[in-house]
Amino acid sequence: MLLRMSTLFLRTLREDPAEAEVPSHKLLVRAGYIRRAAPGGYTWLPLGKMVLDRVAAIVHEEMRAIGGQEVHFPALLPREAYEKSGRWTAYGDDIFRLKDRRGAEYLLAPTHEEMFTLLVQDLFSSYRDFPVILYQIQTKYRDEARPRAGLLRGREFLMKDAYSFDLSDSGLEESYAKHRVAYQRIFERLGLDFTIVSAQSGAMGGSGSEEFLAAAEVGEDTFVGCAACSYAANTEAVTTPSIEPVSVEHPAIEVHDTPETPTIQSLVDLANARGLAGRTDWTAADTLKNVVLQLTRPGSAEKELLVIGVPGDRDVDLKRVEAQVHPAAVALFDDFAARPDLVRGYIGPQKLDARYLVDPRVAAGSAWLTGANEPGRHATNVVSGRDFTPDGTIEAVEVRAGDPCPNCADGTLEIRRGMEIGHIFQLGRRFADAFGLDALGQDGKPVRITMGSYGVGVSRAVAAIAEQRCDDRGLVWPKSVAPFDVQVIPAGKGEQLAIATTLAEELVAAGLRVLLDDRPAKVSTGVKFADAELIGAPHSVVVGRGAADGVVELRVRATHESSEVALSDVVRLLTSD
Ligand code: ATP
Ligand code: MG
Repeated sequence: MLLRMSTLFLRTLREDPAEAEVPSHKLLVRAGYIRRAAPGGYTWLPLGKMVLDRVAAIVHEEMRAIGGQEVHFPALLPREAYEKSGRWTAYGDDIFRLKDRRGAEYLLAPTHEEMFTLLVQDLFSSYRDFPVILYQIQTKYRDEARPRAGLLRGREFLMKDAYSFDLSDSGLEESYAKHRVAYQRIFERLGLDFTIVSAQSGAMGGSGSEEFLAAAEVGEDTFVGCAACSYAANTEAVTTPSIEPVSVEHPAIEVHDTPETPTIQSLVDLANARGLAGRTDWTAADTLKNVVLQLTRPGSAEKELLVIGVPGDRDVDLKRVEAQVHPAAVALFDDFAARPDLVRGYIGPQKLDARYLVDPRVAAGSAWLTGANEPGRHATNVVSGRDFTPDGTIEAVEVRAGDPCPNCADGTLEIRRGMEIGHIFQLGRRFADAFGLDALGQDGKPVRITMGSYGVGVSRAVAAIAEQRCDDRGLVWPKSVAPFDVQVIPAGKGEQLAIATTLAEELVAAGLRVLLDDRPAKVSTGVKFADAELIGAPHSVVVGRGAADGVVELRVRATHESSEVALSDVVRLLTSD
């Protein structure tokens, strides 16, 4: 493939676009790969489309390698199927809903589990038909609350979604394992630095779920990794190692006047100043903070109260709570006027008329300094299991660097950032149950099918690669997805263009993708060099004055290395790796 800069549909920009906040977005726009067309919607320009297609080609290859068969659904789908699965409602504001001229309701699919389930039900009926893996690369639509960072979080984006259909749990585990391997290969081939983390399966339900996160400062996913072992998990999925019940006999509850102590810090200060319960070593970790939340279930206007008890040195992480109570939405409760029994700032679990869950650190038998349910009063020696009985535990507090690793004995957790580029999970029978997807078993009895669902953010992956591989001069594509293998840049006003053109043709004949910067001499060599670095092909060949004597300059984009090489050696050098 030979492209000529003089005719390429490309305008590079010297300035960062005003709307771009992250490096990949700035550079993809500046280097002429994408162009904003709508909020959260981008036009792929020729260079961008080349990279996107190469990423997609790798995804196709690896999906075929595990036996995936490609299909293609419409994005515009009738309401019924999503109604039946419950997701028409569960998706809330996240989907685009529309009506046709007759008033029939449609949506633009955010993902396609329902349709794949129906398709398999439509065509397959015998145990002999299974297992099967189907996939597509399709445009998805999600009315994201905060579209941002260009391709990273669009409202229209390209996803590879695959679905496995198996007769048994062990079959599903095999299909899942195959996808896991395929995904590792895909992201390795894309040159991405990524971590596989265990995840909550969010809106999907089901169990057995992992996310592939590309490391990036600008990523929206915080995840934790163990400094000592290979453990990595989404913060939502981190579990607290179980804490042994405390078997000490505690004295009875004592109630103290603690005026003006609505915050943990003011309480700790007063407790130490007064020597509450004979102690002056109170810390926030000795207090039990009771956070009142309200849950709203999809499709219901009713607000359900949930009180969570956590050690006072920890904040509640609403995202983690949300992951545990999904599909209910969570918010802080603020209507204290309606619940005079909940004395804001002085709530204790000893007398509580609401569902009460505690952080696992609130072990059975542990004693706490907590609210006495009266304004300006707190109680000491409030013992879990004696003075209050939680309805259960919940992973609700923020995860901190230094927390113990749930996987190994002595490791501690580090906080890292990344963006999700892939997600695999064992859906189980949730959709098969919703639609009654069965196969007729060998014994003539129906067998309920079990499913897996597997996504790759194809357009997001382009941005993730750009984000990981760039520098202050521009993009630095890995060879596997670069729009060009080499850019040939004539530098000079003489015969360099002719020599460069011949070289470019030879490189193409050798199977390389080549961009020839044949712009007229009024475009300065400096501009050509700057554009080459911005565009970011792995190599450039500068055909300058020495070319007449058979010498050119070979530049490596990633390392900025440059060397004089014989013109006659260029093809060999660039095709040998
Ligand atoms: P996120 O947590 O980033 O919103 P998700 O959990 O909603 O992702 P899935 O429903 O599992 O994502 O979709 C599969 C893949 O599609 C994701 O791993 C991600 O790479 C990609 N993806 C999801 N939402 C977007 C988006 N708004 N823009 C671009 N890619 C996306
Ligand atoms: Mg999402």
